Amino acid sequence: MKKADYDLVIIGGGPAGLTAGIYASRARLNVLLLEKMAPGGQLLVTDWIENYPGFPSGSSGYDLVNNMAEQAKRFGLIIETSEVLSLNLSDTLKKIELSNKTITTLSIIIATGASPRKIGVPGEDIFTGKGVSFCATCDGPFFKDSVVAAVGGGDTAVQESIYLTKFAKKVYLIHRRDELRAAKILQERLVANDKIEVLWDSILTDIGGGLTNVEKISVKNVKTGEEKEIPVSGCFIWVGTFPNTSFLKDSVKVDKYGFVIVNQNMETSAPGVFAAGDVRNTPLRQVVTAVGDAAIAAVSAEHYIENTWAVV
Ligand SMILES: Cc1cc2nc3c(=O)[nH]c(=O)nc-3n(C[C@H](O)[C@H](O)[C@H](O)COP(=O)(O)OP(=O)(O)OC[C@H]3O[C@@H](n4cnc5c(N)ncnc54)[C@H](O)[C@@H]3O)c2cc1C
Repeated sequence: MKKADYDLVIIGGGPAGLTAGIYASRARLNVLLLEKMAPGGQLLVTDWIENYPGFPSGSSGYDLVNNMAEQAKRFGLIIETSEVLSLNLSDTLKKIELSNKTITTLSIIIATGASPRKIGVPGEDIFTGKGVSFCATCDGPFFKDSVVAAVGGGDTAVQESIYLTKFAKKVYLIHRRDELRAAKILQERLVANDKIEVLWDSILTDIGGGLTNVEKISVKNVKTGEEKEIPVSGCFIWVGTFPNTSFLKDSVKVDKYGFVIVNQNMETSAPGVFAAGDVRNTPLRQVVTAVGDAAIAAVSAEHYIENTWAVV
């Protein structure tokens, strides 16, 4: 068989990709990590992270992920800035298409993460990480005794709004229709929670504030046209999450939402191709789960490479 350029190529340089990089380079595999932007993933837009073990006072997202990158580089991980455009998995020697070249590898770890769907209102981008959040587990505890807004109407929006009431003294749930899509049992819990006020038939039109934090939102009633300003310190947006998988096309099996399907060894439907972190079908998208997945994926890849070299 023709020799592959690499034993393993990791696609994505967020917490999952970097962790896979630590394990694989420490195991002395010939490994390359491809990241289309700067390494860091979603942690680059995470101001402060409190629920990652080992940091009693928390850590900035930047410091945490920068340390992961430094740790991986110490073991010799090579990180290249390149976007993966497509994969050809038809052969044991897999091909990865970049804008300027094609590389070959025996195995791949897909760690391209997911992106929260945005609404596109003014203030949403500039206040992300400064009061605008897409994750109550991550940021809810920062809003103790505060008034916050939440946007959405599905299971996640309702579940997460209820979760927010553990911290916030009031949650306005903004929903554009006059009924929610969430499961009935969740709706019953929502109605029973007197800290939540649903703003029916309403859409978020603006998020405003000072230099460093959200102070208010504007909401419009789509039936009456009435617009009002509400003082809040945070705004949570749950209108969906999409996996960063456009380059995969049909090369591996995905679930109905497009997340990569894996087994407990993080193996995808294509032999020698693994997935880890937010890009995979998982009940929890957090740093701690991403790095756990990545450790399993890297060790699985190592076993696959050993067995494949033994037969080629
Ligand atoms: C605002 C915010 C706050 C959060 N707070 C917390 C928190 O407090 N605690 C917590 O545990 N989690 C938190 N999270 C979630 C956490 O950041 C994610 O679960 C974690 O980053 C997932 O890691 P990942 O490596 O799987 O994916 P990502 O972090 O999404 O990284 C994926 C990487 O892949 C790259 N990539 C994508 N496509 C390609 C391609 N085709 N070619 C090359 N590279 C590509 C991307 O540029 C990105 O760098 C937060 C998320 C956000 C957005």
